[in-house]
Amino acid sequence: MKKHKETLSRFGINKTQFRIDLLSLFFDCKSSLTIHEIFERFNKKINKVTIYRALESFEQKGLIHQVPDKNNLKKYSLCNLDTCSPYSHNHQHGHFICYSCDQTFCLDNSTIKILKTSSGHIVKNYNLILEGYCTDCNSSQTISQN
Ligand SMILES: [Zn+2]
Ligand SMILES: [Zn+2]
Ligand SMILES: [Zn+2]
Repeated sequence: MKKHKETLSRFGINKTQFRIDLLSLFFDCKSSLTIHEIFERFNKKINKVTIYRALESFEQKGLIHQVPDKNNLKKYSLCNLDTCSPYSHNHQHGHFICYSCDQTFCLDNSTIKILKTSSGHIVKNYNLILEGYCTDCNSSQTISQN
């Protein structure tokens, strides 16, 4: 928890207990979270407006970013805290959406590395979406087939 408090300070975000818990939720989550999922994780005890404001502030300060969602809901994932900052998001990674569980995963940028297009444009950001079965769903599929 101390680590999360320090992260909030470093990114210039007010350290309320809720925001500390919210950040740790993102750290524990391997995929991404919608406002509704966050609301459920806090047992509906936190007002949705509070959640929405915290997410906005986290996004502005470079802690989390919006990721594509199958149902076009607002969905967020943790940023790479070494490359994103209160000044700018710096993402060069694509996203993976699972057909089975609908989760969105950030792909690490070693999966696909495009820094310069063949025509010489410099790539700073991209919205690349891959779809298929995530590791969890893929392994449960294999089991049910046997
Ligand atoms: Zn970011
Ligand atoms: Zn899945
Ligand atoms: Zn991402």
